[in-house]
Amino acid sequence: MHIAMVSEHASPLAALGNVDAGGQNLHVAELSAALCRKGHEVTVYTRHGDPSQPARRTAPAGYEVVHVPAGPAEPVPRDELLPYMDEFGDWLHHAWSRSVPDIVHGHFWMSGLACLRGATDLGIPVTQTFHALGVVKRRHQGTADTSPARRVKLERILGTRVDRVLATCSDEVFELARMGTPHTTMSVVPCGVDLSRFTADDTGATTGAPGVPPRRQRHRIVAVGRLVPRKGFDIAIAALRDLPTTELVIAGGPRPDELADDEETSRLLRIARGHGVADRVHITGQIRRDHMPALLRSADVVACTPWYEPFGIVPLEAMASGVPVIVTAVGGLTDTVVDGVTGTLVPAQAPNALAEAASELLADPELRRAYGSAGRKRAASRYSWNRIAADTQRNYHRVLAESDEPNERVAAL
Ligand code: UDP
Repeated sequence: MHIAMVSEHASPLAALGNVDAGGQNLHVAELSAALCRKGHEVTVYTRHGDPSQPARRTAPAGYEVVHVPAGPAEPVPRDELLPYMDEFGDWLHHAWSRSVPDIVHGHFWMSGLACLRGATDLGIPVTQTFHALGVVKRRHQGTADTSPARRVKLERILGTRVDRVLATCSDEVFELARMGTPHTTMSVVPCGVDLSRFTADDTGATTGAPGVPPRRQRHRIVAVGRLVPRKGFDIAIAALRDLPTTELVIAGGPRPDELADDEETSRLLRIARGHGVADRVHITGQIRRDHMPALLRSADVVACTPWYEPFGIVPLEAMASGVPVIVTAVGGLTDTVVDGVTGTLVPAQAPNALAEAASELLADPELRRAYGSAGRKRAASRYSWNRIAADTQRNYHRVLAESDEPNERVAAL
């Protein structure tokens, strides 16, 4: 099957951890690679935001990345890309008119718009993974949300126009249903984890491995993600007040040499000083992919305390690494983490609950081992990329089987 993936801002080739590069980039890269392993031909279309990149490039995993000339050939923040989506969609339409893919898969709402425009009148079925929903972001971020004002409305329409929505968690299904996406056109297909990269193997777990800061306290909590307020790193920092023998390593954000100028890093360090725990907080900056497994394995506990989380790959990576997790009971985290089995669920924005859960786990190495081992089993049995690719493929086949009757809803918005 020839599959066209569209991921307007999130290139599968990008380094992860920066403000606009995280789970979606990884998802598109790993899913495309896994579909190639199944014998499919995959082309990923992403915007040309880096003039040093060639127009086309074949990734080592076998999929082709096409840099679509829409908007300026320089980085543009994700929330400012909407004006270029018509141009993106028209470019796709031209490309797909000459070489028709069997199926199109949009990632994030703006890609979905470009896909509908690109597929108009060509009879190509369109599937969509939102990765995040504007209505949820607006609920939690209020006026701090920099998404285009029309996002919520356009997402609502998109959900009713595409042939199938692949939601990454059950919570997203409820949100989409409330937005009017028909239940009959939705399936849950979560993100996966690279089980050969993230292993419970102890070798290399020592602190001091490349990219892993040396341990200075008896216990270590690791938190990983893009350095944005909604990831709730401040909650983990506040919890340290009640965890006197514990250090917190926060990984993510700009490159280490750019941290000094990063606003969010300064904010987090100010909070740490305010709580009197700054000497136990270490912000590393962006961590290379190949250093991430050792960093996670250097933790006694991995904490993910976002305000909300559409999926959340980091806890899955920790579970695959045999490390217990404490996560807020939001979004995709309530699907992946089984409370009292692979980790502990705590309420959002509650440093005391996090501190209490961490105290219990840090005091009990047996419990940590049990959670870690159950986490590895759960990640291995349900979240391999091969399984996620098989689920995705099943949905493609279903859409193709249904598409004998052309979907007249597929048209540019
Ligand atoms: N990540 C990384 N280096 C960093 C920070 C993050 O490789 O410095 C990876 C992390 O391991 C995970 C992804 O980026 O695979 C973040 O995905 P997640 O779903 O947790 O968050 P999102 O970015 O989608 O909000």
